[in-house]
Amino acid sequence: EVDRPNEIQQARMQLPVFAEEHRIMEAIHHNDCIIICGETGSGKTTQVPQFLFESGYGSPNSETPGMIGVTQPRRVAAVSMAERVGNELGNHGHKVGYQIRFDANVKSDTALKFMTDGVLLREMMNDFLLSKYSALIIDEAHERNVNTDVLIGMLSRVLKLRRDYASKDGSNIKPLKLIIMSATLRVSDFSENKVLFDTPPPILKVDARQYPVSLHFNKRTAFNYTEEAFRKSCKIHRRLPKGGILMFLTGKAEITDMVKKLRKEFPFPKKTKSNGKGRDNNQTPIYNEDDSPEMRVSAKHADIEAEDIDFEVNEMKDDFDDEIGDLEDDDEEEEEGFEETLEEDQTENDPLYVLPLYSLLPTKEQMKVFAEPPAGSRLCVVATNIAETSLTIPGIRYVVDCGRSKERHFNEETRVQSFEIDWISKASADQRSGRAGRTGPGHCYRLFSSAVYENNFPQFSKPEILRMPVESVVLNMKSMGIDGIANFPFPTPPDRLALRKAEKLLQYLGALNKESRITDLGKKMSLFPLSPRFAKMLIIGNQLECLPYVIALVSGLSVGDPFLSEFELGFIQPKKQSKYNSDEEEEEEEPESQQDIERRRKSMSQFNKSRRLFTRLDKHSDAMKLLSVICAIDHVPKTNRESFCKGNFLRV
Ligand code: ADP
Ligand code: MG
Repeated sequence: EVDRPNEIQQARMQLPVFAEEHRIMEAIHHNDCIIICGETGSGKTTQVPQFLFESGYGSPNSETPGMIGVTQPRRVAAVSMAERVGNELGNHGHKVGYQIRFDANVKSDTALKFMTDGVLLREMMNDFLLSKYSALIIDEAHERNVNTDVLIGMLSRVLKLRRDYASKDGSNIKPLKLIIMSATLRVSDFSENKVLFDTPPPILKVDARQYPVSLHFNKRTAFNYTEEAFRKSCKIHRRLPKGGILMFLTGKAEITDMVKKLRKEFPFPKKTKSNGKGRDNNQTPIYNEDDSPEMRVSAKHADIEAEDIDFEVNEMKDDFDDEIGDLEDDDEEEEEGFEETLEEDQTENDPLYVLPLYSLLPTKEQMKVFAEPPAGSRLCVVATNIAETSLTIPGIRYVVDCGRSKERHFNEETRVQSFEIDWISKASADQRSGRAGRTGPGHCYRLFSSAVYENNFPQFSKPEILRMPVESVVLNMKSMGIDGIANFPFPTPPDRLALRKAEKLLQYLGALNKESRITDLGKKMSLFPLSPRFAKMLIIGNQLECLPYVIALVSGLSVGDPFLSEFELGFIQPKKQSKYNSDEEEEEEEPESQQDIERRRKSMSQFNKSRRLFTRLDKHSDAMKLLSVICAIDHVPKTNRESFCKGNFLRV
């Protein structure tokens, strides 16, 4: 029934998933939930929805008239996959749509809908049974985002309900099919979780078609990894055969910088100037950066998606044992992975077609990575971990991996959430290197040593839900209308006691009422990407018209104490432990010289004076003290800040 262009059909038949159509559909027929595992690029996202469509899901006159829904953790994947599947479906292409925050093209005859997981969660608030759908695919489940985890938990209940209702009244309600897809085999949290599914869903493995990728570790770990990434990719471009470069960095600022630097290093030849009067009219610009996204859904009705949060981050602590230092290139010739040479029609100065790729980039800009690079140039995509599994960029042969990513962290002690740059997991590093072997044998350049990989990289990354303050998880779920949190079927449950404590705290903050339902205040609080305490401070600050001060306070509280303590400064000696148990190890202590004592006394008096200054507004309030110091620093010109901090015993 579906009539596809010939070359599309040819390409499909090459995909490993294609050969499994029968096995997959059979399993779906016999089970309400199945799990499909297959390497990135094996064809899961583009093909499985089409299998469902072709066997009647989403067709008005079939047994399964409801839509096929496919969720993605990221917007760009939802949009680009909808477009790709639309093309692949040939004469039925118009039945494919997408819905993301701020944008949608779904129509009344849409049979196959791609969306972000946030959008589906939102729909569940209005229609828990999801009666519009006959099948749902949860894609990229291995990423273990909070949204995905919560969705799978809720859907496990919907499956049961739909099955029950259908057996009572089959004419109105049909059973729902759930397909969980993962790029890794690590799915036991779903498959072996009795709370989630009492009969374990079958796991279908799809073999990948993967060419060999040679791994090249740096001998030493580059501390300044952006510099090293720049050097490496320049060298690849100047010396190695054709093939795209994919570079993994951690965030928007880094990526924009890198893109600028690389474009400058390998520019496109300027077209002949037309009488020097500005730009030639016929010249199509290679890059146009001011495209802005079209907005069709008002922000008020849109859902917050995790990727909208892009805080500046704390620098990673250099907790690796390698010698740090700028890598001098004295053994340039010996560097691994540069044995090949340029092809005949390449030169050292060919233009490099450099494109950024990160979540906050307008979708239209993101889509450029799928197009052919201009003739005679090499593609170079500078991406966050968005390119790790959700998107297969065509033609990549070289991967440059900094080995880091920006992730949500939560400090149990200070209760502060932050986004920090940290090592990725071994599993992620392997996913990244795999990107180089899609179209042929490739190379992956790891900007860290194999020792750091072995010793510092965790095997897998923790599910996001365990890296968040529990009270944020609870508040988010309450705002989605989920009530019984203590009994919620989480794939990986947070500590139950902590869940109950979090509910208490939220009641205390007024986000939940006595019945533990969300209040209007709670709804507002859930919109902030901050822990609930801070969200409430901001809301109240706004009501009392002192918002700037409260913002300063919340910022200050989020980064840790700026005041150095008397211990840290060495004014007070920590008590000796050895006092009671040894006279043998009593170390000979140099008696303090008169000069030292005098110097210390002076510092201490300065210290007390400075501290009194910050507590002048209120002797007893730590909050006022913090606010004073933040305002004071803000007042000092940038160039003097360091000396101001030193003089006032503050953390720089
Ligand atoms: P998976 O979901 O298993 O990672 P996909 O279904 O996303 O795999 O991709 C299968 C193949 O389809 C990829 O290897 C890629 O070559 C091709 N493909 C996907 N999207 C596009 C696109 N927008 N343009 C061209 N080719 C694409
Ligand atoms: Mg996919």
